[in-house]
Amino acid sequence: MITVIAARSRNRVIGIDDSLPWHLSSDLKRFKDLTMGHTVIMGRKTFESIGHALPNRHNIVITSDIHLDFEGIQLADTFQRAILLANLNKTEIFVIGGERIYESALNSPLVDAIELTLVNTRVENGDAFFPVTLPEHWTVVNEEVFCKDENNDYDYAFLRYERTHEWSRSGPLLYLPAARFDDQAGHMEEILNDGICPFCQQWLGWYHKNPTELETEHWIVTKNDNPYVGTLNDLLLIPKAHTENFLQLSEDEQIDFSVVIAETMRHFNLGHCALGMRSGDMSRTGGSVAHLHAHIKVGDTDNPDHQPIRFKMSSVPKQNKAPTSLH
Ligand SMILES: [Zn+2]
Repeated sequence: MITVIAARSRNRVIGIDDSLPWHLSSDLKRFKDLTMGHTVIMGRKTFESIGHALPNRHNIVITSDIHLDFEGIQLADTFQRAILLANLNKTEIFVIGGERIYESALNSPLVDAIELTLVNTRVENGDAFFPVTLPEHWTVVNEEVFCKDENNDYDYAFLRYERTHEWSRSGPLLYLPAARFDDQAGHMEEILNDGICPFCQQWLGWYHKNPTELETEHWIVTKNDNPYVGTLNDLLLIPKAHTENFLQLSEDEQIDFSVVIAETMRHFNLGHCALGMRSGDMSRTGGSVAHLHAHIKVGDTDNPDHQPIRFKMSSVPKQNKAPTSLH
């Protein structure tokens, strides 16, 4: 088993001046727990930033200068040769960085998994980055989200990605052609590549800017981050558990849906409003986020220039459609 292990910011930064841009005790502990007793493969700069061989692990450093001599270190001139050396040991193999070694590893079909610590911050002056992991190639198979505390500078998450297999592939979590604004499209693409669902309760605080306005047993209400043109109120009603189709809601969640609509109208003092909801295949419904959600909208109808709100209820026509028969 060959695993890439890394910690990166939301904008993919892994380092500044050969050091980590944060202090996260939990990440250091997890790194130690996962790699202890196994083989670690790293680039020369990563090795120099650590300054010594990692104890109780087989250390392999990739460098073009294989005449270097460091205690407890084995040298290899390429990523492939490092893997060959590691395989002789019959231990698990962890690729621990930096940027160029991660690139070689993720391009290699030998690598099966990524153990990623995602740090909920954007680092503006980073000089080393983690490669983009496209959902076509990598799928999140496990996720744990944690809040910052005295030992951890930021909120963080442990994500395990494995190779995306044709047989295990589910539909996309976001549908980019449905974006209404350019910056919304960029934000959606970043989430899509992170491989997580932005409307699942544990991620809402990371990926959705507006706070929770109210919640019922099964639903959360928040303002739309990308309000529709002409709205006075643009609210999203989101089930707490991941659901992509109205028919997948439990009876309790369905009943609680009427409750959350009434609660929302009372909370925002809405005498009138419009309710819209899409369910299922986003390439047909006009939806942008697969996680089921309902829209409550109130138009700015006292404004003499008001144009009725344009809420898509189907998608743009599919390209390359099979010709339809006239009979
Ligand atoms: Zn979800």
